[in-house]
Amino acid sequence: MVTADEIRSVAIFSDLSDSECARLARAAADIRLQEGEYAIHAGDERALYAVLEGRLETIGVTDGIPRVVGGRAVGDLVGEVPIALGTPFPLGFRAAEPTRLLRLGAQDYHALVATVPAIGVKVGALARERIGGLQGITADRPPPRALVLGDRWDPACAQLRRFLDRNEITFTWITPDLPEAIEHFGEPLPDELPVLRIVDGHWTLPRPEHRRVAELLGLTTRPRAPEYDAVIVGAGPAGLAAAVYGASEGLRTIVVEREAPGGQAGTSSRIENYLGFPSGVSGDELASRALQQARRLGAEILVTRSVSGIDPSTHQVHLDGGDVLTGQTIILACGVSWRQLPIEGFDRLIGKGVAYGAARSEASNVHGLDIHIVGAGNSAGQAALFFATHARSVTILCRGEGIEKSMSRYLIDQLATRDNVHAEFRTEVTAVYGEESLEALDARNNATGETTRLDSGGLFIFIGADAETGWLPSEIALDRGGYVLTGPDVPQWELDRDPYLLETSVPGIFACGDVRFSPVKRVAAAVGEGSMAIAFVHQYLRSLEPEPVR
Ligand SMILES: Cc1cc2nc3c(=O)[nH]c(=O)nc-3n(C[C@H](O)[C@H](O)[C@H](O)COP(=O)(O)OP(=O)(O)OC[C@H]3O[C@@H](n4cnc5c(N)ncnc54)[C@H](O)[C@@H]3O)c2cc1C
Repeated sequence: MVTADEIRSVAIFSDLSDSECARLARAAADIRLQEGEYAIHAGDERALYAVLEGRLETIGVTDGIPRVVGGRAVGDLVGEVPIALGTPFPLGFRAAEPTRLLRLGAQDYHALVATVPAIGVKVGALARERIGGLQGITADRPPPRALVLGDRWDPACAQLRRFLDRNEITFTWITPDLPEAIEHFGEPLPDELPVLRIVDGHWTLPRPEHRRVAELLGLTTRPRAPEYDAVIVGAGPAGLAAAVYGASEGLRTIVVEREAPGGQAGTSSRIENYLGFPSGVSGDELASRALQQARRLGAEILVTRSVSGIDPSTHQVHLDGGDVLTGQTIILACGVSWRQLPIEGFDRLIGKGVAYGAARSEASNVHGLDIHIVGAGNSAGQAALFFATHARSVTILCRGEGIEKSMSRYLIDQLATRDNVHAEFRTEVTAVYGEESLEALDARNNATGETTRLDSGGLFIFIGADAETGWLPSEIALDRGGYVLTGPDVPQWELDRDPYLLETSVPGIFACGDVRFSPVKRVAAAVGEGSMAIAFVHQYLRSLEPEPVR
């Protein structure tokens, strides 16, 4: 327990009376940390700390890598800004050596300030000073780690930028037509684009493969061990949730992701209905937080690697490129893939104004343009709202008679408030035109049979998705649509016990999120199922333990 004398050794508390010190000592927690242990993570709820022994390092995360951006010594306070502004901690704090802290929860702090207002004044003054320091940290952010040189409408360039974004790599993007492009690039511009320059390693790669980019930027692409307790296929919300729970509960956990973390959620400009984010959260923000959390808790995350096969009898997992892992358990969290619009010549304009989904990075491509959205569900509605603040006009094209049955009321109401959003019903896109990028499309009104050519600077498609599970072994039972059957839906089963709720027809192989046969396709459901899968992993592992000898 913290003593009254120790409390008085903290400058800000030095004028407290004996009884106030005693009251504070009763309210304060006495926290002891080993070197490297975190006292506070970025995003933690506000509280006030004081360093009694040892030293703390202030940790900021850039490009997904924790960096020391400051520190606190004996007698220093921590948390004056969050407690003064009522916000969560913007940065983390980690013990640089064995360290002891006093911690005062927000309620106890406010009770103390009610009786000794001078403390509130001092904490407020310190917070103002510290905000000046934080501005310094922001201004001193390390320079971007990469430079991308490529055309706006080059799909390879768009994919590269998205890949860097979703792996939290800071980069500068310059297009070759910029007057200052040569100056930025530092030498004559190459013919073969896009080019990626990695600033630290002085690598310049024309048309780089994502796996090579990942390797050079220090992202994990090869497994560190041959065997894991849980091998998770896919790093969308379901896979990342399973990784967070698996790693935090002590399981050797690896996630294998064929592209970059985030899954479909990473292509959503705003998720409005995820619990705990009252004003919505963008898919990439949610994914980035989940990725940091999974990494911090010790999950290994491989990117740019696909799982190409699973052996149901040995639980061996084959990765493209030849690596083989063994999982005591395997969790399929590989989601679904966008359904394609079957239109002649359509593929030629993908990434050149035509896109599936609505990642936030698309916003800069539609400024001041008239754009179109195909679909009538919530994803289409969210995209329309998002683009309405960037594009000159947004037209929703859908085959049905209206959107009332397929879109949530709150989205319909919000869309109605936007003057630049319109909808055309009983209409489908029949052709797209453009040389360098999308310029126009044909829209056919199925009621009148009339086709109209419309100028278009962007076409975003939201017509549903399919499970891509053709690569799974036949022992894992699927429904007719390719979704993985689990628990009570499993048709054949070999053990005496029933399959667990998320267990597939192969014992020890689980499925969660959108790839699982279930009517619910939502972020919250994927996150819930990913975390539940870990509970079943524990039960399965316990079931393998030999019965005690009596
Ligand atoms: C534009 C859009 C907007 C949306 N808006 C909302 C919303 O507002 N609210 C809401 O609740 N839901 C929303 N959704 C739905 C939500 O995003 C999904 O339900 C959720 O992402 C499903 O998560 P998942 O982890 O199961 O699958 P996914 O997100 O599909 O992730 C699967 C991951 O597995 C990887 N993968 C696939 N196969 C392999 C393989 N063989 N090897 C390695 N990796 C593989 C993929 O690359 C992907 O990263 C939206 C979806 C979209 C597309």
